[in-house]
Amino acid sequence: MAQQYNPYENVCTIVTNTAKMLGYTQNDYEPILHPERELKVSVPVMMDNGEVKVFEGYRVQHSTSRGPAKGGIRYHHNVDLNEVKALAAWMTFKCALVNIPYGGGKGGVVCNPDELSENELRSLTRRFTAMIAPIIGPDTDIPAPDVGTNAQVMSWIMDTYSMLKGHCVPGIVTGKPIPVGGALGRGEATGRGVMLTICNTLKNLGIPKEQASVAVQGMGNVGGVTAKLCAQEGMKVIAVSDVSGGVYAPEGLDIASIRFYLSERGRLLKDYQEDGVQHITNEELLELPCDVLVPAALENQINASNADRIQARIIVEGANGPTTLEADDLLNQKGIVVVPDILANAGGVIVSYFEWVQNIQSVSWSEEHVNEQLKEILDNAFNALWALSHEKRVPLRTGAYLIAVKRVIEAKKLRGIWP
Ligand code: GLU
Repeated sequence: MAQQYNPYENVCTIVTNTAKMLGYTQNDYEPILHPERELKVSVPVMMDNGEVKVFEGYRVQHSTSRGPAKGGIRYHHNVDLNEVKALAAWMTFKCALVNIPYGGGKGGVVCNPDELSENELRSLTRRFTAMIAPIIGPDTDIPAPDVGTNAQVMSWIMDTYSMLKGHCVPGIVTGKPIPVGGALGRGEATGRGVMLTICNTLKNLGIPKEQASVAVQGMGNVGGVTAKLCAQEGMKVIAVSDVSGGVYAPEGLDIASIRFYLSERGRLLKDYQEDGVQHITNEELLELPCDVLVPAALENQINASNADRIQARIIVEGANGPTTLEADDLLNQKGIVVVPDILANAGGVIVSYFEWVQNIQSVSWSEEHVNEQLKEILDNAFNALWALSHEKRVPLRTGAYLIAVKRVIEAKKLRGIWP
């Protein structure tokens, strides 16, 4: 099943259906079914044991109609070209939906970063950056963190690109550490955006947040921060998980204690022990009765095989593409409100945009200002989407694509085909 699943085909299906609903012709939408550029690179690394290993990497620019390509770099053993293409396209529609002046791109290297030493990770990152350097740039394509990469990796990308150019280029990449031009608030931005989206959804459905139970799949940068901020907002976080499995406490977990436990490298939730905490699998977590389910790990988690067992009232997609098309239909039939990834996890790229704006202007914003601006953009995007979906009587994902696809096609049409 996992092998056959092609997320890029899903993207094309949604884009085609949406463009038709909007009354566009094939001439209008055909260009956005094809990524503008796809680069495949071989990345040789001298491993610590003296062996030379060659890793496969990609950078895909799906669209630059609305601005430079923008999107993260993923280090994961399951990275493949179709996944990177889908992730790049989702960035195009995410940036369009929240109306920031970017297109979409994504990169990835097939590797398991947990098995690499710091030395190997740095060498891999520097060589990968050099290999994609001809197509990235602060005005053309701006990478950022994604699954398996972090602020340190962004710092190496910034340094490598700057060395190649002969001068410091902080705007080449976002999600950097603060001392090298990172934005205050960027580290928590994606999780903060998920939390704000949960609050907006609960409010519109008339559910007090103090009464809401939340289950989060994934305790990485997105899931971990989402769980922390939801708990701080007074919600009851009843379950969280990582690759090793999940923990569950119907009366609510101590998220601060779990995050402290996980802060040491190599620790896994399967070994976390606390009174009243039960161990569950990732599959069980997805099927728990709860108000809000946040898949914040990888793609294809809610699919045709488990969608009919999902009991959550609301799903807020912290990950990119966690729900397959078939599952989406089943969830809609069951009346589950699904807040799509391109809105729910847009907080990361919104604050990446703020970081880039600060870098190219050589200014710096306070964390308070960053968080206020993030909330304003997300609230506006949420309210516009909620209103449109209710007016057109369509699920939120359909509404989100109606807004985003229209913006991308209109930009493309206004610019025309060159030459
Ligand atoms: N990787 C994140 C995403 O999928 C952030 C991308 C960015 O900040 O450019 O949205």
